[in-house]
Amino acid sequence: MTEAHHDITIIGGGLAGMTAAIGLAAQGFSVGLIDRAPKGDLTAAKYDGRASALAFATCQMLEALGIWKHMQPYAQPILEIRVTDGPSLMHLHFDHTALGEGPLGNMVENRHTRIALFARLEEMDGIRLYAPDEVTSIERSAGKVTVSLKSGHVLTSSLLLGMDGRNSIVRAHAGIGTSHFKYRQQGIVCSIEHEFSHCGIAHERFLPSGPFAILPLTGNRASLVWTEKEHLVPTIMGLSDRAFEAEVRRRVGDFLGDVKVIGGRWSYPLTLEYADRYTDQRLALLGDAAHGIHPIAGQGLNLGLRDVAAMIEVLADAAHAGLDIGAPDVLDRYARWRHTDNTTLYAVTDILNRLFSNDIAPVRLARDVGLAVVNEIPPLKNFFMAHARGTVGELPKLLKGQRPGS
Ligand SMILES: Cc1cc2nc3c(=O)[nH]c(=O)nc-3n(C[C@H](O)[C@H](O)[C@H](O)COP(=O)(O)OP(=O)(O)OC[C@H]3O[C@@H](n4cnc5c(N)ncnc54)[C@H](O)[C@@H]3O)c2cc1C
Repeated sequence: MTEAHHDITIIGGGLAGMTAAIGLAAQGFSVGLIDRAPKGDLTAAKYDGRASALAFATCQMLEALGIWKHMQPYAQPILEIRVTDGPSLMHLHFDHTALGEGPLGNMVENRHTRIALFARLEEMDGIRLYAPDEVTSIERSAGKVTVSLKSGHVLTSSLLLGMDGRNSIVRAHAGIGTSHFKYRQQGIVCSIEHEFSHCGIAHERFLPSGPFAILPLTGNRASLVWTEKEHLVPTIMGLSDRAFEAEVRRRVGDFLGDVKVIGGRWSYPLTLEYADRYTDQRLALLGDAAHGIHPIAGQGLNLGLRDVAAMIEVLADAAHAGLDIGAPDVLDRYARWRHTDNTTLYAVTDILNRLFSNDIAPVRLARDVGLAVVNEIPPLKNFFMAHARGTVGELPKLLKGQRPGS
């Protein structure tokens, strides 16, 4: 048995967990980071089909934490977003020049973000990675948290952060329930190579089965997130490469010229899941462990990183004031700060998905009129654009691009 003491223990070294470890170490905390995946998987250069739209504010945070320099060569700026409703001529068009402050966000393949996070992790002092490892027990008392691992390590700390994704064992350990909704849809994800430039434009099309997104990657490549009715997914996933490519071409259309599917195809069940509360004695939930939302607005990871930014600020303020970082008041500040933002987003993504995933004529008319109205009213349009850029609400300092300690 090897005992180690850290200020903070994090269970879950996904994109959010690694960012949290880096941000907390930058504030001078010592961090024990546990993941069950082998270190090789966490740094794997293999394309796993996932790419994320990172809002402008999220990119500012990654820059402030010294992570962005490792991923910037792989980032495709999103300059415009075009939202259309099936074949309707009504549309909504967001252009970054309207706000005049850089792109709306960036598209980055998750593998590049993971590699960048790992590179930054290795540059920093104060983080110890326990991976691959399994948590065998978690014990909490008024004064400390003890996490025991299969490898024999026993970690004590003042605070435990549960960042272990949708099926969080930390959440289950704390007895925190969830509200759960299973959409009868799955997300089919693949990448394409195309003949003409995408010009940094992201397209979101609302088809009767659900949203179909064409998201620009570096070069003449794009990531597709194709939301489809659940019962059709096995058939689509079972199509020959040629037949699958033909279905993709039919949906993308010809504006990008010749289109080829590159790499594999993946499907993800889509669920909405949110924790009844974010905190418990010496414990807090962040990222997908606290809230898993529909990918319609490409906001899941952005939300998780906003949790991280808020938590870092709350803990740094507490430590600065000489407070116990695991005290209930400190954790309450985090929970209150994040609750409104997260609840708004999962309500909005849920409503958008329900509103747009059908072909009922009056609903279609109403949403088309809605798109056209928003498109013609600049203040309303700028409001939506600011949301896409992640610059709305009471932002933690990191999301404004302020470096730790500044
Ligand atoms: C199709 C699709 C498209 C998406 N597109 C976008 C997008 O464009 N933009 C966006 O912002 N979001 C997007 N998302 C959402 C985004 O992918 C997630 O919100 C994000 O990956 C969650 O990160 P996380 O670190 O909180 O959790 P996870 O990525 O789930 O990481 C959890 C980590 O915990 C580890 N772990 C789990 N259990 C244990 C355990 N018991 N012990 C130790 N370790 C454990 C896992 O190995 C993993 O490393 C999309 C999601 C889907 C399905």
